[in-house]
Order: sequence, then C-alpha cells, then structure tokens
Amino acid sequence: MKNFNPADNIQDLQYFGEFGGVNPSISDSSTYTFLSAKTMFDTFEGNMEGCYLYSRHSSPSNLYLDKALAAMEGTETANVSASGMGAITPTLLQLCGTGDHIVSSRTIYGGTYAFLKNFAPRMGIKTAFVDITKLDVVEAAITPSTKVLYCETVSNPLLEVADIAELSKIAKKHNLTLVVDNTFSPLSVTPTKLGADIVIHSLTKYINGSSDTVGGVTCASHDFINSLKDVNSGASMLLGPTMDSMRSASVMKNMRTLHLRVKQHSHNASYLAERFEKDGLKTVYPGLASHPSHKIYASMINPEYGFGGMMTLDVGSLAKANALMELMQSKNLGYLAVSLGFYKTLFSAPGTSTSSEIPMEEQVEMGLTDGLIRFSIGLDNDIERTYQMMRACMQELAIL
Ligand code: PLP
Repeated sequence: MKNFNPADNIQDLQYFGEFGGVNPSISDSSTYTFLSAKTMFDTFEGNMEGCYLYSRHSSPSNLYLDKALAAMEGTETANVSASGMGAITPTLLQLCGTGDHIVSSRTIYGGTYAFLKNFAPRMGIKTAFVDITKLDVVEAAITPSTKVLYCETVSNPLLEVADIAELSKIAKKHNLTLVVDNTFSPLSVTPTKLGADIVIHSLTKYINGSSDTVGGVTCASHDFINSLKDVNSGASMLLGPTMDSMRSASVMKNMRTLHLRVKQHSHNASYLAERFEKDGLKTVYPGLASHPSHKIYASMINPEYGFGGMMTLDVGSLAKANALMELMQSKNLGYLAVSLGFYKTLFSAPGTSTSSEIPMEEQVEMGLTDGLIRFSIGLDNDIERTYQMMRACMQELAIL
C-alpha cells in the first residue's frame, strides 16, 4: 500500500467550476428541478446517484467538502454539518437507541459530555464515563448493551491521548463501533488507519482555521453516511443540522492551507512547551517526553505534522490564571477566548469555560485544576519573541 498522506490526498483532488473556474461554483439552491417525475421518485428512494433533491439532504458544495474530508481521513465518504455538535449528536443517535449503552472517555469536550450525561438518557441511552488511558477499565465498562466506544484522539482540555489501535481491538472484540473525535489532531493523526470506524471533527477549529464559522463533519462508510441521510430514518436528515453551501465553500478554501498551518501550530506549541517546562511550569504537551502518553502518541502520528498546537500550563490558581490571561491579551499575545485553531493564540481556563458542564467534583477527579490554562498556540512568525513576551507577563505576576 502506498504511504497514506492525508494532505496529499486532499491535494490530489481536482475540481472544475461549471464555467471552468479553478474553484467549484457555489450551489446557491435549496431545491433542485427534475426533468421527469420518475427521476424525482427514484431520488427520494435513494436510487439516483448524482441527482440532488433538497439541500438538507445534500448539495453540490457540501459534497465537494465531504469529498475533501473523506480523502483526509481515509474514509469512503463523509457528511458535513452545521457544527461539530451537529455531527456528534446525529452520529450517536444513529448508532444507539433506547436501551443502548455507550462507553466514553470522561475527558471530552464539555458539550459532548453534557449531551451524553444529560440529554441522551432522555432517549434511553446511557453512558459509562471512563479513564480512556486505562484499557482494562475501558473493557470492564462494556456491557451486553454497549454499542459505541467514544473518545477524542487528544482530549479536551487535558490533552490525554487515546491509544486508538488498542481501543480498536477492544471495540472489534465486543462488536462495538469506535467513534473518534479528531478535532485536536487533524492530519497529525489518521484514526481510521489505527482502526477507528467513524471520525468526527468540529470544522470550527483547525480545519477552517479562521474562527469565522462553526461546522462539523462525520467521516465514515457509504452505508453509515447513507443511513444518516435516509429520508425516513436518518438522524442528520431528520434533525436537520445542515451546513450552508456558502459556508462549505469557504471552509473548503481554508482547508487547502491546513497542512501548512498544522506544521506551524505544532512547531510553535512544541517550542513554547519545551521552554516553559524548562522554566519549571507544569506543562502538558503530547510532544514532551514527560507526557504520560508521549511514546504512544509518537507512534500514532503522521510525523511531519507534529504533535499539534494545543498545550496547557498550570499557573497555580484561578486568580493567577485569570490575571495572566488578561495581561497577555492586553499585550496582544492572543485572545482570552474559547475555541482553537486560530492564527492568533487563544487561551481560556477550561474549568470555568469549555468544561464548566462537568461537575466540580468530577473535574477534580480527572485532574482538571483551577489554575489550568488551555492554549491553542497561534501561527506566530517569531515564536522566540512570543516566548519572551509571555515570560515577561509571567514574571510581572510572579508566576515565574
Ligand atoms: N469536539 C471538540 C473536541 C471540541 O473542542 C468542540 C468544541 O469546542 C466540539 C467537538 C464541538 O464543536 P462545535 O462547537 O463546532 O459544535
């Protein structure tokens, strides 16, 4: 098999606009005409490849982006959605119904956690939250009703690494679908090559990269994506989290520079993580030898894209974390904002923001401390200059 390189797979796609444009035309229609009534009927029945019915089901612009994302993740196809949550919730609801059970990592995005903990039980779906790095604990949580094993490649916000190859063995043994949210590690990790069945992204983050839209995608087999879009029983078709064509066209244009951006984000984050660890700060970055899953992650990544752009620093207390973030923003070192993958550094205290859905005692149990700052490191051209400026802020606040 030729070496799998996700960025080359995107590069190898070729599109022509309907007037020969180098960008495909944006499909600005919610509905589509048919030359014969019979073709319309067949399309409803799902029997007409290449015909469009209604844009909640599919549209040419969304299919272009689907294709690029499927090429990146090495899946047969994909289905874009209006947000990451608009990909996660229909995927899980398609896989599970009343009486079914999910085993999920406990360190996942707060919205996903809240959905599994508070909302899915209303549909009769229960979830066991586990430490995903402990494979024996994961396996012990599986019951005869378990249908799905769910994790994030690199978890939000603690940057724990899921050993996808080993989790996939467990999933296969128990006939579960392994669903992996790869939002923090596009290009760096290709979960399907390690045995994942379904890969999800919030496109809002690195893939779009310009913090101007929300979006999501489910990358999977033809059969699964067709089931999501089924007019009678598909969770995406019926719940309706459809991405707008204008947006999918703009996300696709941004995606073309993803490989360059990921390399720079990884380079910058790795540089800062090494420096701050040497300075004595409690630093978590999967590229550091001190990260508990460093070796596993090093064996999982497509090396040229590095260990990613996310790192955390623990500055001791929430008051210090807040003061540091405000000072860094005032020095134009980035923004005190949630989300990730922007060209500027973004920082937030997860305990009071993106993970605030997780009850305090559970935050303590999983090691989510008060003074933790999550950084999405930007594309800064001179990262040594950034380091010196961040260091000066820390010294001013007696953190260093
Ligand atoms: N998955 C991860 C890992 C996230 O960090 C987020 C959002 O922060 C989501 C999913 C949800 O994505 P969206 O905000 O696009 O719905």
